[in-house]
Amino acid sequence: MINDEVSTMDNCIFCKIVAGQIPSAKVYEDHETFAFLDIAPANKGHCLVVPKKHMATVEEAAPEALAAMMRAAKKVARAISSAQGNTAYNIVVNNGREAGQIVFHLHLHVIPRYADDELVIDWERAKRRAKYASGEIEQVRLAIGKFL
Ligand code: AMP
Ligand code: ZN
Repeated sequence: MINDEVSTMDNCIFCKIVAGQIPSAKVYEDHETFAFLDIAPANKGHCLVVPKKHMATVEEAAPEALAAMMRAAKKVARAISSAQGNTAYNIVVNNGREAGQIVFHLHLHVIPRYADDELVIDWERAKRRAKYASGEIEQVRLAIGKFL
């Protein structure tokens, strides 16, 4: 189960930010989304894009809500790049505790990236550990396919 955290509108820090009950460095809002600077950025300009309506994870989000978040993230990413001079960025969702989600109000991280930054997402190390055995990729493909 992805979301076994207790998270409601009443105890949710991002709902409080959207409602203006907690201050934030807001950069953008529209009728569905709200975006603000992450207080502990991976690079300066790192923003969070959240739906105004409370939802904890991707599983709880209607496709329209996800589309609205990505639309806003694209606008915000373009603005960050113009302001900060980066030519690349990561858009990341940490979905569920094991994926690093700490705040259980769905959010997209928009992180400006630079050739010489020290931000390490160490997929290469993980890829060496997670290698498929012979024939295993087909088993995994079939196992996932049963649910689609
Ligand atoms: P995640 O690990 O994906 O749940 O990320 C949560 C993010 O929220 C972290 O990067 C935090 O630095 C950020 N964060 C937590 N509280 C605040 C806040 N009050 N204002 C801005 N960013 C926050
Ligand atoms: Zn919330």
